[in-house]
Amino acid sequence: MFIIRVAIDVPVDTLFDYLVPEIGLQDIGVRVRVPFGKKAVTGVVMEIIPYSSGSRIPSIKLKPAIELFRDIAPLPEPLLNLFRFCNTYYHHPIGQVVMNGLPGRLREGKPFVKNSPAGLQYRLTDAGRKADVSSIPVRRIVKRRLLARLGEGAPLCREEIKQSSVRALPALNEFLALGWVEEEIISPPILPIYPTNDLHGPNGAKRTAAVADAAIPALTGEQQCAFDAIAAQTDRFKPWLLHGITGSGKTEVYLRLISLLLRQGRQTLVLVPEINLTPQLEAIFRSRFPAARLISLHSGLNASARAAGWVQAQQGNAEIVLGTRLAVFTPMPGLGMVIVDEEQDTSFKQQEGLRYSARDVAIFRAKQAGIPIILGSATPSLESYYNSLTGRYSRLRLTSRAVSNAVPPVVRCIDARTVKIVEGLSEPLIAALEKRLAVGEQSLVFLNRRGYAPVLWCGACGWIAPCHRCSSRLVVHLREGKLCCHHCGHEERFPNACPECGNQDLAPYGHGTQRIETALERRLPNARIMRIDRDSIRRKNAWQHMLKDIQEQRIDILVGTQILAKGHDFPNLSLVAILNSDASLFSTDFRASERAFAQLMQVGGRAGRANIPGEVLVQTEFPAHPLYEALKKQDYDSLAQVLLAERKNAGFPPFVHQALLRAEAQRIDIALDYLARAAAILNPSRQVNVFDPVPAQMTRLRGMERAYLLIQSSSRGKLQEFLAAWRVKLAELPGRKVRWSLDVDPVEF
Ligand code: ADP
Ligand code: ZN
Ligand code: ZN
Repeated sequence: MFIIRVAIDVPVDTLFDYLVPEIGLQDIGVRVRVPFGKKAVTGVVMEIIPYSSGSRIPSIKLKPAIELFRDIAPLPEPLLNLFRFCNTYYHHPIGQVVMNGLPGRLREGKPFVKNSPAGLQYRLTDAGRKADVSSIPVRRIVKRRLLARLGEGAPLCREEIKQSSVRALPALNEFLALGWVEEEIISPPILPIYPTNDLHGPNGAKRTAAVADAAIPALTGEQQCAFDAIAAQTDRFKPWLLHGITGSGKTEVYLRLISLLLRQGRQTLVLVPEINLTPQLEAIFRSRFPAARLISLHSGLNASARAAGWVQAQQGNAEIVLGTRLAVFTPMPGLGMVIVDEEQDTSFKQQEGLRYSARDVAIFRAKQAGIPIILGSATPSLESYYNSLTGRYSRLRLTSRAVSNAVPPVVRCIDARTVKIVEGLSEPLIAALEKRLAVGEQSLVFLNRRGYAPVLWCGACGWIAPCHRCSSRLVVHLREGKLCCHHCGHEERFPNACPECGNQDLAPYGHGTQRIETALERRLPNARIMRIDRDSIRRKNAWQHMLKDIQEQRIDILVGTQILAKGHDFPNLSLVAILNSDASLFSTDFRASERAFAQLMQVGGRAGRANIPGEVLVQTEFPAHPLYEALKKQDYDSLAQVLLAERKNAGFPPFVHQALLRAEAQRIDIALDYLARAAAILNPSRQVNVFDPVPAQMTRLRGMERAYLLIQSSSRGKLQEFLAAWRVKLAELPGRKVRWSLDVDPVEF
């Protein structure tokens, strides 16, 4: 008999022991079904010990495990170690770390692979590749389209094909009958683990060789330097900060590195922020590496596709894994490099459950695997920048735009105090838009606020429509005739009158994208205007169509939020107008300036990317603010120096390390009381500062009231020691009406 120690998704930081009659060490990492209370749950075998070594549980109480799932290879040791790292670094229960790191399908109470149709995938045979599309009648659109998609090189799984059209499966069967397509099982029940130098899987096809040469530009001098530096040291852990202005061609550097890794037969993990960037990057990667297997993992995928991709990566069958933060937990036996694009982006930090930073976990992962990691950004986080100053990271600079003749945009402020402003738009701004319109160039009006107006206001008594579940105001969505909370999703109808004084004359106050869109339509009736924000791209595929309209010049003016800020390349866009950016200048959040600057640089970077010089206009009441001064000079470094000096004086990260104990309850006093009691059981330490409990910035959220206790230290090690000891005591502290969690390296307060 053996005892297995199992990670289970429960909020207790321990493994649970079960008996199994027969098992070997190779079963560490296998999923297992075990009884838990009155239920059966799925967990992962983390440790195996002979029965004689004894369990912490007396033997008569030990229950036998129900079933081991050996349908896919066990989770590999490096992944288990990554989970163990998250468990100790983030002080989050091991079972929850492990189970939430797995795709949903692998958490279910049944094997993932049972030769179900979902486990099959299809690719073109040689005959299929040579097949003549014109032999298919023109009206058989589905059949033609399927052949074209398969022709792109990547295998398609049955689910994907099925979803594309009701006639797709019959078409597929015809191809199978013709011998144009071959079928593969995605995850055979017993998986061979391919050595890292043979990632080509059972078919043995040399897929990586075919790299399309045609569209590859010669690297600029700076790109070449960056590439050479990294390429010279691919066999050891080394964090690189690739600091390149927008348009400097960071993506091209990634592509060259990936190509190098493909030639070495190793896998690359590419992490991108959580916004509609993955499809674009995926398209770029696929066209550059048509024969490589690329798996894309993001929240838009259905559960089967995600699990299938994950299993492929684990088998070493995916040479490139491209994904958002959750992809950092993808097992990759031949991992040779990690790339984190837009490393400063806060969406790499998970804000619930295991509050991990995918960037930081990726660094641990690279260290563990002994491989380089590249953090790319035009405006690095101050943490990473500081690390490059101290020499922990090596910084590589790209200071000019990659496309010849393209120059960084000229940035100017419009002093909103001295010009006439109608409906949120100043005269100089309208004039600048008109100028672009006249020469047929595109403009972007950026404001980070969707909806029609941020508040609904009663002029008679000053009432403002609140969200009753959050400490926030309801946003006016005029088109939908609704008031919406952007924090909890609550919606309600427009009130007929003020609930306080009965006044019927309620007015939207301030400007959101819908209102600016309407104002622009009035002011520039000849312009073709398109609004791009989370509301307008909600419909499936809407975004794809809109991008096409922009690229094919059917749009003159874009009005949009941060969705537009990142990564998009609009060659004909020459003007970016920024509205409403002043709010972040005086925020209480010490990271607000850093974020605002990053965002403005990013959105400004959309202007003038190809051969048209770009212009950025900031409509502001504070044209002399240092942040705008830095923006005008496109000078990240001096602003970063100023902000770092401020942080040093004030004792903020990266000069100290922080953690929060967060608590939420029905009422704020319950949460605060819990935190006060939590503070009282602390072992005082001279190297760790504990602050008083305070309400969170957003005190009410979704009907719960929230508070936190800040703990900080100049020594990461001391902070960690302290948290480890404290967590044990916290587990015993009564607090039944409170939900608490630890947040290490918090980015939100
Ligand atoms: P970044 O990610 O740094 O903002 P991109 O990688 O998107 O920049 O590159 C900006 C543009 O420059 C893209 O259109 C890209 O195709 C082009 N580009 C990149 N490298 C080169 C190069 N060496 N020569 C010519 N064009 C390049
Ligand atoms: Zn009123
Ligand atoms: Zn709300």
